[in-house]
Amino acid sequence: MKSVCLLGSTGSIGVQALDVIKALNINLLAIAANENIALLERQAREFKPSVVCVRNEKYYSKLKENLKDCNVSVVAGEDELLNLCSVNCDIVLNAIVGVAGLKPTVCALQNKKNVALANKESLVVAGEMVMNIAKKNGCEVIPVDSEHSAIFQCIKLGRPFEVKKIILTASGGPFFGKTRKFLENVSVCDALKHPNWSMGKKITIDSATMMNKGLELIEAVWLFNKKPQDIKIVVHPQSVLHSAVEYVDGSVIAHFSKPNMRLAIQYALTYPNRLPSLAGSFSFEDYGSISFFEPDYYTFSCLKLCELAIKKGGLYPAVLNAANEKAVELFLKGRIKFLDIEKLVKRAIEMEHINKNLTIESVLELDCLVKKFVEGLC
Ligand code: NDP
Ligand code: MG
Repeated sequence: MKSVCLLGSTGSIGVQALDVIKALNINLLAIAANENIALLERQAREFKPSVVCVRNEKYYSKLKENLKDCNVSVVAGEDELLNLCSVNCDIVLNAIVGVAGLKPTVCALQNKKNVALANKESLVVAGEMVMNIAKKNGCEVIPVDSEHSAIFQCIKLGRPFEVKKIILTASGGPFFGKTRKFLENVSVCDALKHPNWSMGKKITIDSATMMNKGLELIEAVWLFNKKPQDIKIVVHPQSVLHSAVEYVDGSVIAHFSKPNMRLAIQYALTYPNRLPSLAGSFSFEDYGSISFFEPDYYTFSCLKLCELAIKKGGLYPAVLNAANEKAVELFLKGRIKFLDIEKLVKRAIEMEHINKNLTIESVLELDCLVKKFVEGLC
């Protein structure tokens, strides 16, 4: 069984990853989070990793004090978090939210670790670079995002030139079927009510705006080396067909399972092997009928913004991502309305950007600039 380093252990994916780690008795070497030291402490006591890292250094002495009776090394700060990516593990599971996950993804790959990647933002902001680093170091990026996990599994059944199209499914989120008029006054509470998945706040809002599906389109472009026009988004409200691949002969190979992230997490950790999982078995009769729709690009214009950003290429997806992260933060704080999210992202990607090369430094520099720009508009 592989040994794992888990980044973002206190989040929605992190906690579900620990369920999988416990069920399969996987060797957990290190855990890290940003500031939730109460949960980090409980996780350290239960799972007994060798190292626990809190990225926000403000919480270091408290966590160290709280864990003084445990045989665990407590570290803090970004450099120490990056050091975890070089610990002697087989796989780094990156479940950090946002652009903060980029450096850990790159660092793990540079240290020749396979990465189980939940942090889709790494691929959105610097997908080409991340995949090149993986290739150069002989490592794999194994998707944890349920749709990409499904595609990853379906695409292995043919050869690259036999693939005609990727079919990326979307639940449609809590506002599926609604009008723009309806969206004008939706509250934070309404937007946080996802019909099928319980997730962190940022991705839940991204699902409500459908920005999440646009980010996933960009994620799929880099993971599967496809053009945006080769990826078709289909709304499927039941979230049991997690995505599919159409081959040149017209065959469509699809992945079905209960909507449970533990399955995608487990597959990423055990790949290429399969083991019984906590997700349980899927039965078609439980669903009766399932449905599929074209996305409503007019009401959910974030989808178009993502298509525009990936077509423009270069640093544009990083600008889109930064503007979205800031806009979602402002929406969650009650400072802007729901439809302002797309307006702010549109303003940011319409700006003329310096045509710098895509490097980690240029992405992170632009990320700060765009977040300040968006804040300044409110
Ligand atoms: P959460 O907000 O629930 O958790 C985020 C985790 O990241 C927490 O452990 C948090 O620590 C940690 N974190 C935040 N900022 C930093 C930082 N700067 N350095 C180190 N750690 C940090 O998010 P989710 O679990 O929902 O999502 C994680 C990623 O997985 C996202 O990229 C999301 O898009 C993707 N994903 C999530 C799915 C889901 O079902 N939740 C499904 C598919 C993809 P702390 O708690 O201390 O703040
Ligand atoms: Mg997804």
